[in-house]
Amino acid sequence: TDAGSAADALPADPAPVAPERDLFSKFDALIAEREALLSSGVRDPFGIVMERVLGPTTAVIRGRETILAGTYNYMGMTFDPDVIAAGKAALETFGSGTNGSRMLNGTFRDHVEAEEALKAFYGATSAMVFSTGYQANLGIISTIAGRGEYVILDADSHASIYDGCKMGDAEIVRFRHNSVADLDKRLGRLPTEPGKLVVLEGVYSMMGDLAPLREMVAVSRKHGAMVLVDEAHSMGFFGRHGRGVYEEQGLELGRDVDFVIGTFSKSVGTVGGFCISSHPKFEAMRLACRPYIFTASLPPSVVATAATSIRKLMDAQGKREQLWRNARHLHGSLKALGFRLGTEAADSAIVAVILDTQEQAVAMWQALLEAGLYVNVARPPATPAGLFLLRCSLCAEHTADQLERIVAMFADAGRSVGAIN
Ligand code: PMP
Repeated sequence: TDAGSAADALPADPAPVAPERDLFSKFDALIAEREALLSSGVRDPFGIVMERVLGPTTAVIRGRETILAGTYNYMGMTFDPDVIAAGKAALETFGSGTNGSRMLNGTFRDHVEAEEALKAFYGATSAMVFSTGYQANLGIISTIAGRGEYVILDADSHASIYDGCKMGDAEIVRFRHNSVADLDKRLGRLPTEPGKLVVLEGVYSMMGDLAPLREMVAVSRKHGAMVLVDEAHSMGFFGRHGRGVYEEQGLELGRDVDFVIGTFSKSVGTVGGFCISSHPKFEAMRLACRPYIFTASLPPSVVATAATSIRKLMDAQGKREQLWRNARHLHGSLKALGFRLGTEAADSAIVAVILDTQEQAVAMWQALLEAGLYVNVARPPATPAGLFLLRCSLCAEHTADQLERIVAMFADAGRSVGAIN
């Protein structure tokens, strides 16, 4: 064939790609920064391996039993016996895999069960399950707002929201984090005619602060915009039914909020993402949304655990109260020790400790890990304002004794790196 003869003509010993055309050159600064950090003798905060998990709040890391205060397992559902039993039963009955896309061959009984559970949980007419929360934002945002339309988003939005904007064809407008006045101003500058989607988060995951959703929604509606709220970090413990910050602030699906995005990877205790809506045409999304159509569906064992967990979260008052007690305990204790925190009060189950530099943050993170505590290091570009954070997230299953130990470890590590006196 022609292709064969062309290949025969190729040199037997091809020249290497010239260094200036090495596609990895653009990562040189990143590689150098990481090498400098690791050469200072610290461990890699982005290379942690959980060797064994002992329960919702403890794991073995490098052979050592460690308290986990840096997971999104807010409601502690990962070891719930009913959730595990549902997953095992589905694994045995349906097998380990899915055959492909939700649209063709990848929808099983438990995908429908999970969507039914979500509809009941949110009092919504539609629920669409995606393979991750990341894909839910990617898919919904890029599909709902098209050419000539607008997406207006908070500057501190999660990467999946930004990526959804990038993937779609709409015009993108950013407003200052949590600034109702800036949102109003920017919406006011846009032409009246085109459709607009305002994207907000209930809890902002880096600092753990809340959006003033009531005011944001009022301004959005004044300018004729639809509203999407990502409630990834609030499901299960904000609002009377645990629907999120929008419910806590007295807003309603349909009337005030058009779409809620969520995830199974946090309070639900497994993996997956979803969008909830009561829009009469919402089901059309299943026919148009590429991150829903062109990827494999979640395995039956995962959606079965999700469905069971969501039903249980509808009646989890005790866990919610415990989670809030834990968040207030840790926030109050770290504040009393003199740490600079992301919020004045315990607004959510995330407590962000602000450090001066990356070196200080990583040194303290390492001191905590060696003492037996795992928290997250968060750094730009994930964090706002170039901040370096040690982020703690609480679980309803953290015991009073664990909290005391967490606080004591923070006191020692904070003093050792000079973050507190
Ligand atoms: N939205 C927000 C606000 C998040 O914090 C996250 C994950 N941290 C996601 C969406 C993505 O969820 P998932 O982990 O299910 O992809």
